[in-house]
Amino acid sequence: MSAVIDKNSMRRVVIVGAGPAGVRAAETLVAAGIVPVVIDEAPRAGGQIYRQPPADAGFARSKRSLYGLEAGKADAVHSTMAALLSKLDYRPDTLVWGCGAAQLDTLHDGRQRTVPYSHLLIATGATDRVLPFPGWTLPGVYTLGAAQIALKSQGCAIGRRVVFAGTGPLLYLVAYQYAKAGAQVEAVLDTNPFSRQFAATPRLLRQPSTFAKGLYYVGWLAAHGVRIERGVTLVRATGDKAVQAMTYRDGDGEQELTIPCDAVGFGYGLRSETQLADLAGCRFRFDPLNRAWLPERDAAGRSSVPGVYLAGDGAGIAGADAAELAGRRAALAMLEDLGHRAVNANVQAQVAKLDRQLANIAEFRIGLEQAFALPSDCASYWPDDMTVCRCEEIDAGALRRCIRAGEANEINRLKALTRVGMGRCQGRMCGAAAAELLSAETGRPIADAGRLRGQAPIKPVPLSIAMMDEAPEANHLAAIAEHARDE
Ligand SMILES: Cc1cc2nc3c(=O)[nH]c(=O)nc-3n(C[C@H](O)[C@H](O)[C@H](O)COP(=O)(O)OP(=O)(O)OC[C@H]3O[C@@H](n4cnc5c(N)ncnc54)[C@H](O)[C@@H]3O)c2cc1C
Repeated sequence: MSAVIDKNSMRRVVIVGAGPAGVRAAETLVAAGIVPVVIDEAPRAGGQIYRQPPADAGFARSKRSLYGLEAGKADAVHSTMAALLSKLDYRPDTLVWGCGAAQLDTLHDGRQRTVPYSHLLIATGATDRVLPFPGWTLPGVYTLGAAQIALKSQGCAIGRRVVFAGTGPLLYLVAYQYAKAGAQVEAVLDTNPFSRQFAATPRLLRQPSTFAKGLYYVGWLAAHGVRIERGVTLVRATGDKAVQAMTYRDGDGEQELTIPCDAVGFGYGLRSETQLADLAGCRFRFDPLNRAWLPERDAAGRSSVPGVYLAGDGAGIAGADAAELAGRRAALAMLEDLGHRAVNANVQAQVAKLDRQLANIAEFRIGLEQAFALPSDCASYWPDDMTVCRCEEIDAGALRRCIRAGEANEINRLKALTRVGMGRCQGRMCGAAAAELLSAETGRPIADAGRLRGQAPIKPVPLSIAMMDEAPEANHLAAIAEHARDE
């Protein structure tokens, strides 16, 4: 096997993210004789959907109980990665916190290391899209993703009597997973009416098996007596020291109803993790479907920066199946750009197939956004005293005052003047809400609110790393090249 690691020119392929996109990209590159570096901040591969419990989790749950109907796909991704381990340079538990021209800044075990790259695939996935409601900062209120991580990674639930609220496919899936795991699901409160979901059926049928799974989760919940309310407005979560109840307005807008609970899981779909693409210098465009600014990429996953590729949810939400396909597709594009000999007529057929499959999923994705649209008018009725930015404790009133005074009509200006999005989360949690508020207050389209620019470090790092010597890199590189030659 001839590895495309060249000690002299430092030509080096790096993948950030060991989720479905990153793993399939690595598999494709390794098959072509390349030894990529694969970096992930999680301790084990699998990404969000196929997240594995830590090796020392202290509990054992079967793949079937952890991943349900997706157990087969989870197992396939895990075993692929396990088989690749000796053929690549895998760096788990390693955060990429910065990205400059041709190098990444990483943090592992409290130590800083700079990782050079010539070709970079960013497959950093997504996080929950958070839109706040009064009481969302109470202890016991979690995002849907966090509620699921507790179950998958720690083998525990966020509460005994849980209300799930918001919208999106995860809403029903996580409620189903909780109910199956033995939690009492008090209600599922969907802000979208059934009519929207019904109207989206033709597009959702583009992925019949995924659609069928969604119907199964809803049907299972209904058959097990779980209350499902649609078209609701979330009014407030209340409680003394922690959440004790969730109040919502029903679909007709006539009644306010309160459900006692000891935990709430909420979310409005997902948002792409785009900060590294931003720091890498990728050009962005506003994507109306995702209602977000996303790094530009061509159909193969090439970004606007030569040598930087994008795949999976980090480049636009499309789900795990699309992430696997896009990871493979981007790896093939990288091989082509590297002038690799594996790119032949057979590969062209593979590329055409991947493109067809991805186009099909894109149609399905439009259906999902139609069925689970964001309640884009919500910012107009957020009360002034509701916290928008948790890290910096900024409420909606402070943001409104700044906007109404004519001081900020763009998100980075609003950040500079109020500190919204300047804290630990760097706007990953509050950025979407601040943009919605800006749009509601100025009466201008959300695209005009602008894009919160990424800043390194993209996630908190200890101050001490600034003082540290770097962990040695060159020997490590030589060892990998050696290994590749032996194969
Ligand atoms: C919390 C959560 C739960 C989800 N659960 C489901 C589900 O049950 N079913 C479903 O169909 N879909 C689910 N999704 C969506 C699904 O996970 C994605 O569609 C799919 O995993 C996308 O694959 P990916 O490879 O693009 O990204 P991911 O699977 O998200 O993988 C990205 C990887 O990149 C790593 N990473 C990100 N940033 C950095 C960084 N700066 N440095 C180092 N590593 C980094 C992450 O640790 C992660 O392992 C969930 C999404 C989230 C956010």
